[in-house]
Amino acid sequence: MNRMCAFCGSKVNVYRKKTSSLLNIFLSGLTALFCHLIFWDQFDARVFLFWVVFLMLGEIFVQIRWRLSIVCRTCGFDPVIYLKNSREAVEKVKIQLERRRTLPQYALAPPLRLPKISKARLTEIESKIVKIDLKKTKSRLALRI
Ligand SMILES: [Zn+2]
Repeated sequence: MNRMCAFCGSKVNVYRKKTSSLLNIFLSGLTALFCHLIFWDQFDARVFLFWVVFLMLGEIFVQIRWRLSIVCRTCGFDPVIYLKNSREAVEKVKIQLERRRTLPQYALAPPLRLPKISKARLTEIESKIVKIDLKKTKSRLALRI
């Protein structure tokens, strides 16, 4: 599924599935049964152990695939990290933009359409961030007391 990056507006191919579907569960069961029949010639309860292992491997694969697909490859913006810690997301975008500026493989790449922020708006945003940090610090101090 194509989506636009929230920061630079470039297209990002994102997988829809975040978790395993019923088809994945069924196929992991079939794979477990097949693997079980390779090792043992009779049906045994150990097939459920194989099934659980294949379910776990499939779920891990689907979640890692989804998690890697939502990161913008152009600017490095990660919406999950942005929701948890916006400053860390900003640092990752800065690193990617610096890498994009210095590496020769990006020399002929189309330029990014980054959002332009005026100095007045930048100071307003920074003051809001400082206020939010003060609120977090006060709430943490209140929890300790
Ligand atoms: Zn982007």
